Amino acid sequence: MSAPDSTIYALATAPGRSGVAIVRVSGAEARNVIAHVTRRDPPRPRVASLRRIFGDDDAPIDDALVLFFAGPNSFTGEDLAELHLHGGPAVIAALLRMLRKMTNCRLAEAGEFTRRAFHNNKLDLAQVEGLADLVAAETEAQRRQALRQAEGAPSRLYESWRAWLLRTLARVEAFIDFPDEGLPDQLMRSIDGEIAELAGELSRHLDDSHRGEILRDGLTVAILGAPNVGKSSILNRLAQREAAITSAIAGTTRDVIEVRMDLGGYPVTIADTAGLRESADEIEREGITRALARAEHADLKLLVFDGGDWPRIDAETAKLVDDRALCVVNKADLLREPEPIAIEGRAVIKVSARTGLGLSGLGLSGLAAALTEAAEARMAAGEGVVLTRARHRAALEACHQALLRAEAAGLPELKAEDLRLAARALGKITGRVDVEDVLDLIFKEFCIGK
Ligand code: GDP
Repeated sequence: MSAPDSTIYALATAPGRSGVAIVRVSGAEARNVIAHVTRRDPPRPRVASLRRIFGDDDAPIDDALVLFFAGPNSFTGEDLAELHLHGGPAVIAALLRMLRKMTNCRLAEAGEFTRRAFHNNKLDLAQVEGLADLVAAETEAQRRQALRQAEGAPSRLYESWRAWLLRTLARVEAFIDFPDEGLPDQLMRSIDGEIAELAGELSRHLDDSHRGEILRDGLTVAILGAPNVGKSSILNRLAQREAAITSAIAGTTRDVIEVRMDLGGYPVTIADTAGLRESADEIEREGITRALARAEHADLKLLVFDGGDWPRIDAETAKLVDDRALCVVNKADLLREPEPIAIEGRAVIKVSARTGLGLSGLGLSGLAAALTEAAEARMAAGEGVVLTRARHRAALEACHQALLRAEAAGLPELKAEDLRLAARALGKITGRVDVEDVLDLIFKEFCIGK
């Protein structure tokens, strides 16, 4: 990174044409920037004022709404200016050209505004990640989860655990410092009891079926079945667009095609796969291998059977039935009596990609409703704090392990060391302790101007 004292600027809104575009400036030069481009003193902090923006040749560039935030009462904690211009590419370019010429000013790197907010203790690291998730959120449930994290709900929980650990550590250390007084068994037992209690809380928190992480990434669903049962047609109906190619020639979907959709506020990625069948074609066999790999890793499997063949069912597909599977009989328009109720003991959803039966009217219909229900069951969170990232999970697991060791340790010195490690692991989540190594990774997720 360049000198931390340099003033940074960037377009904070999406590039391209828009009604309004916002250029942000953060750092010691923010006042001078406003003075330079408006030819006047900055407006009162936090009061929007309409100002003419001038170029070098004193010709006006635009009329803009100008805002000034005096540090530390700003997003970054530094002096910060916002220029709300008309969102035309030439307007933005003209202003950025002016800023480029100012001394001590440079274009911000990705996530640099937020990074400064972190360094100035405006946000902790978990909140920064929540903010990144909020910007990336595509569905309602993702937005709610991200907002909770950005507002600091997980940070408060983890910091309260860490504070508790540090208090306990202090008690244990007191005994190390005054060994002559000995460590009364009863006190030792009470400390161990408390450590065990916190370890229990952590293990309950960790045992969440990864719902927060699944919600961030989206539930993955693999559509599987014999060639020509209508997998691609079902995906197209669900996605309400021609995402996968359908044709009457078996074996067309040789690779995996993914469609991301919003089902009742939950993000779901549905992958159409090659039809499962014996094949001499090498490329098709590779497609089938990928389909099976996808089936193994998917959160949910949509197993599609051919209603035209009923009551004969494809054995290869039937083998994949388990508690992660939804059994779908397609081509219900071709079904003859008696109609299917269950396959391998699991209830059947009847659909027809041709007529739209069980598929049209997303959100209300049979399959979409069943998928939404499954998504909700895997991702819906209660009121409590939800784990959203592998980074947090790793830190909490390390903390949990250290707590178990601390509880088992006989010597107060060893107990203290493990309590220290446990507190340190928790501190990494909010960035209270050595996190330099993860900072670059975290801020890279942001765009320039954030
Ligand atoms: P995939 O190989 O499993 O992906 O199957 P496709 O989606 O490519 O469909 C194979 C053939 O079955 C196509 O000719 C579709 O028009 C036809 N098909 C798909 N769904 C239905 C349905 O619900 N009813 C009928 N009668 N035909 C269907």
